[in-house]
Amino acid sequence: MPTVRIGLTGGIGSGKSTVAATWVALGGTLVDTDAIAHALTGPGGAAMPALRHAFGDHIEQAPEAGLDRVRMRAIVFAEPDARRRLEALLHPMIGAEAQRQAAAASGAVVFDVPLLAETRHWRQRCDRIAVVDCSEATQVQRVMARSGWPEQQVRQVIAQQAPRGLRRSIADAVIHNDGLSLDEVREQATALWRRWLAVRS
Ligand code: ADP
Repeated sequence: MPTVRIGLTGGIGSGKSTVAATWVALGGTLVDTDAIAHALTGPGGAAMPALRHAFGDHIEQAPEAGLDRVRMRAIVFAEPDARRRLEALLHPMIGAEAQRQAAAASGAVVFDVPLLAETRHWRQRCDRIAVVDCSEATQVQRVMARSGWPEQQVRQVIAQQAPRGLRRSIADAVIHNDGLSLDEVREQATALWRRWLAVRS
């Protein structure tokens, strides 16, 4: 049984992975919901039969090839209801697998959830929620540098994610990652970790 469950979220390029890595180095068990989503929709993934049933066999390039993300994105873009149907299928499966992984942990658990603010239920699953926040200009600059994406692609992803205000409104603590060095972000993450774990022990 975990001692404390921490939900961690932030927009793309906010520094969420940097905070997650800091907390893992301090002994946290990471439950990575992006990795879970990839496993569920990869070749032979447990979500694929339901997705094929909902959207058709053509969402895979070949049988058992796993979700063709480009095709799925096009479907979601073209059909207003498709994203909701996709999420209604995937989110409960991601949640169940995340809970299964967390139950096996003995110390503090960190749920890394990019869409925490957009997804119901996470509030109840976590004792604390941390949000990593920065300006959109900083997000764009970081993701262009990290991933080599064109600016427009970064802005498209940002536009699909929850607005900063919504994300901050669900936070028990916000790490403001603008104008900080990487070491300073890690220091802030460490301080928050110590505070939250001390409170619980
Ligand atoms: P996310 O997981 O939120 O997308 P990352 O933690 O991967 O964000 O950070 C995005 C990129 O920006 C990474 O290359 C990371 O090293 C860098 N980065 C994050 N915070 C800072 C900072 N305060 N100073 C310099 N680089 C940073």
